[in-house]
Amino acid sequence: MRSEDGEGIMIDLSGMTITMASGKGGTGKTTVAVNLARLLAEAGQEVQYLDCDVEEPNGHIFLRPSIVSSSASRVMVPVVDQEKCTSCGECGAKCQFHAIVNLPGDTLIFPGLCHGCGLCSAVCPTGAITEGVRDIGVIEKGKDAKEIEFVHGILNVGEAMAVPLIKEVKSCRKDGYVQIVDAPPGTSCPVVATLNGSDAVIMVTEPTPFGLHDLKIAIDVARMLDIPTGVVVNKDHGGYPPLYDYLETSNIPVLAVIPEDAEIARHCSRGLIILESLPRCMDIFQSLAANLEGLLDTRSVHGRRAHL
Ligand code: SF4
Ligand code: SF4
Repeated sequence: MRSEDGEGIMIDLSGMTITMASGKGGTGKTTVAVNLARLLAEAGQEVQYLDCDVEEPNGHIFLRPSIVSSSASRVMVPVVDQEKCTSCGECGAKCQFHAIVNLPGDTLIFPGLCHGCGLCSAVCPTGAITEGVRDIGVIEKGKDAKEIEFVHGILNVGEAMAVPLIKEVKSCRKDGYVQIVDAPPGTSCPVVATLNGSDAVIMVTEPTPFGLHDLKIAIDVARMLDIPTGVVVNKDHGGYPPLYDYLETSNIPVLAVIPEDAEIARHCSRGLIILESLPRCMDIFQSLAANLEGLLDTRSVHGRRAHL
């Protein structure tokens, strides 16, 4: 599990999927993700960075990859042939997402609510519903200066269907690579879709009452999915006892602590990788990587779950 990297001992995470998550936005989740990715890449490991925070992807600001391909992400949307429609109401009755409204003489589709399940076309007795497509966002792929394979999804503004785009980003995973995954903040369906299939989750939090409140909810979600979870405390200012008390009583390991530090904040706001721009930060991420080993050892004996 471990290999020498010339600078010390470095855990070998090949084939592992490590997801960065947080109960709320602005905790420094991406900072941890990009620095861990760079640390592993510098140690000679093959790393893939999957940015699933599709509403606000920002890993590219730090990694600055050269984008080599860009493609539209599409989902199925039903199209109604009003000539064939008898207004029987079957499609609207069966759509659990209320994406179809049957009016006398008209059947209306609301694409923003449609989950593309195809049930309406299957139940239509007259064959009036066919399957069209609509764009929900873009997938971009590239490589950074340290050969990190980079993939991110960018959801169209105002688009509600984040999960299909997240699944498409995750489907780009390459076997044998360490997957560093940046999840959306919070605990909604897109977060669950991102966490699903992870070997470990790193929750990034701030030592504040708000941070602790949202962290507890996010950890409950990770536990429901049976994924080993550790915490990185960011902007630590000398201790917030309720946070550490909670982590101790809940048996959640603290993987690393990043101090509240104006210089670190300045470097992050400039889109710098602090591991490289502030060498004193190297120890933080090396101990994070080392502590991940113990966390991964707690994985379920049933092994890894499906990736999608
Ligand atoms: S495809 Fe599924 S979600 Fe979309 S309108 Fe039809 S039944 Fe509803
Ligand atoms: S099931 Fe088909 S025929 Fe019935 S209302 Fe829907 S589109 Fe029209």
